[in-house]
Amino acid sequence: MTFEENTALKNFLNLASDYLKDGHARVHNIIGSEEKNALPLAYLVEETNEEAEEIAIEENRDEDSLEAVAADVSSCKACSLAAARKHTVPGEGSINPLVMVIGEGPGADEDATGRPFVGRAGQLLDKMLESIGLTRGKNCYIANMVKCRPPGNRNPEAVEISACYPFLERQILLLKPALILCAGRVAAQNLLKTSAGITALRGQFAELKIGDLAIPVLPTFHPSALLRDETLKRPAWEDLKLLKSRFVEMNLL
Ligand code: URA
Ligand code: SF4
Repeated sequence: MTFEENTALKNFLNLASDYLKDGHARVHNIIGSEEKNALPLAYLVEETNEEAEEIAIEENRDEDSLEAVAADVSSCKACSLAAARKHTVPGEGSINPLVMVIGEGPGADEDATGRPFVGRAGQLLDKMLESIGLTRGKNCYIANMVKCRPPGNRNPEAVEISACYPFLERQILLLKPALILCAGRVAAQNLLKTSAGITALRGQFAELKIGDLAIPVLPTFHPSALLRDETLKRPAWEDLKLLKSRFVEMNLL
């Protein structure tokens, strides 16, 4: 048998055994044959890589993860906020949270660090959460409606919020928080699809339906608003007590 005939036979037998196994051709290393069989082998390699890629994409679709969301966010250019950002701010905290806090969007400190609620408002938020036994990273996850900073701290626009919403939805589906605390008018109106003001929305639970989930959502004032207006601290405290009483009812805290 010539070298060519021998290699062709090996290729044929490998292909036949792949077909008998599961119908998928694999790459087989036939020593010494690479050069002489450059064409058919290259063809096989290409096909197999494409298949592997398709399978990987399929698997990723089935098994989403917070890391995958963060990676997709970091390369996202779906809205105009991508242009001026220093860092994307996907969110952070417990992967199995009692409460998911949803704010509006990153400010300057968040844009500089890539972490949510780390500026003055964030420090106040941490204190508020602590007062009812919640700690970011322990039983709390913190995210925003948009993952990139709106320039000059303007409110994110509706078109930016809807462009970013798929990321938030994936996070909610992965985290399955028992409750959502929604910080401020912009987050509350867009999450609950209402035009009511925050003064009307705060202090009572609404419900967010996503997939099979129906999650109680409590809108409250944004911590930045509390820093500007001391008189909002009392109603915000009432909201936190209401949130806590819901945990207690649900035997969660
Ligand atoms: N304000 C927000 O709404 N989110 C942050 O992450 C910081 C400030
Ligand atoms: Fe993408 Fe959201 Fe950033 Fe817009 S805000 S670029 S949608 S990650």
